[in-house]
Amino acid sequence: MSVVSTRNLELFSRKFGKMLGSGIPLLKALELLQREEGDSPLGAIIGQICSRVREGYTFSSCMSLFPGVFTEVFVAMVKAAENQGRLDQGMVEIADSLADGTLEAGQGGGEINEAAGAAEDANLQVIKLVNRVISDAVKEKLARVVFKPERDHVKLNAARQNSLEARENFDHPTYDRIVARIKLMSALDISETRLPQDGRMLIKVENELVDIRVQLVPTVFGEQILLFFSRPDEVAPPVSAVFPDEAQRKQIVGLLQNLNRGLVIFAGPHGSGKTTSRDTAMSILNDGTRVIFEVGRIYKAIDGIGCIQVKPHIGMTMPAAIRAAVRAEAHVIVVEEISDEETALECFKAANDGILVLTQMHARNSSEVFRQLLNLKVPPFQLYDGIGTVVFQMLVRNVCPDCRRELEFTAKDFARLSLVDFKPGRYSDSKGCASCRNSGYRGMHPFYEITVPNKNLKEAIIKGDSNQITLALEAMHGTCLEAKIRTWVEEGHTSPAEAARIRTILFAQS
Ligand SMILES: [Zn+2]
Repeated sequence: MSVVSTRNLELFSRKFGKMLGSGIPLLKALELLQREEGDSPLGAIIGQICSRVREGYTFSSCMSLFPGVFTEVFVAMVKAAENQGRLDQGMVEIADSLADGTLEAGQGGGEINEAAGAAEDANLQVIKLVNRVISDAVKEKLARVVFKPERDHVKLNAARQNSLEARENFDHPTYDRIVARIKLMSALDISETRLPQDGRMLIKVENELVDIRVQLVPTVFGEQILLFFSRPDEVAPPVSAVFPDEAQRKQIVGLLQNLNRGLVIFAGPHGSGKTTSRDTAMSILNDGTRVIFEVGRIYKAIDGIGCIQVKPHIGMTMPAAIRAAVRAEAHVIVVEEISDEETALECFKAANDGILVLTQMHARNSSEVFRQLLNLKVPPFQLYDGIGTVVFQMLVRNVCPDCRRELEFTAKDFARLSLVDFKPGRYSDSKGCASCRNSGYRGMHPFYEITVPNKNLKEAIIKGDSNQITLALEAMHGTCLEAKIRTWVEEGHTSPAEAARIRTILFAQS
């Protein structure tokens, strides 16, 4: 027998629709109606619906848990109205149908039927889960998150300030639904699991527009997902923040304005801010006097700059896109990244044609840039002729001002950290607190090593001799970068531990 009469359901539907129509938020309207119904069966059901809506479930999916009251047709009508964004009118129409007898209240009890909602529940939970991962990442201003499939489970890692932090783990069945959901959101092929896919989603989180680049890479244990976050509404940082050292800033601006051909390569390890530097360089050149093209996967259109999207599946590969920009008589071409032979050769060809090419490369030090270009079969004479400047950079994390403390460091401590050039004394350190999420660091400072090939280096380049190139670079820069970072530590901005981490990267053998 029915626990809620058709008449009561009609009254509820009509009032609810009218409330929504007058601008009362959904949850508020439900709470008011629950209070009105008091301890009646309908009141109890509305109460349960309320608590589920608060958890993020849709109104219709909550109703489907009570098939004894809300029939399948009823739920379908609510769902359709929800999808059309007209739940207010939909509820009034439902009330009319209940009044004229074309719709009736369910003939069962008011108990929750978990089974009825279980399948939909699983989907909803995944939707909620993906939304939560994304909105948390946006709120924390993360640059990327990675889902890493392993044998037994899938790990979620967050990239914060140059290091990966482990977050939660998922079991494989849940992860399969996460993959499907993310593919759906970024318009990717759900059935394709063996090939890498690149997609994009544009969503709003708390009124902030967020652009997410989605990368799927098949691995032995499943598809790895990388989400890269960027904020199109965000104002680009000023030149003075990107290049804080005044002398280096003047040098870079001068180089850009005076070079009218050749490659300017921004290099650094992952998360060293090279994209920001390259984009800043592009904005310096974007003064209306040059024809500029950006080629690659572009997520942010900028006034004054032509975009050529790389779409390999239709034949618009990176080299083809560069050639298209050359044909369009570009003065400047901004190439997303050099990571393969063809792109490298095409960049040098463009430089040879009298074009200024800004690009970036993944490298752990300046000499690795040259070594990689030689490995990518760039002929030494082209490298000699085409290379304009290499801007190598590192981002050093600063200690968190809230949990910063001073510690005594002995010569032994420094020997253990392989920082033998540091003098014993008191230095900054941090233990981690809530405001830095226990990392001990907040904020970062960029350090640059700018290489404009001199006679010595050019001789080494034309011979194609990597070792001689390394020696020429050492003669040119010495231990300038290390010394600058040491000064930064001595001034208390960061810890000896951070300096040790940076050196490990700089001296990593490739
Ligand atoms: Zn802290």
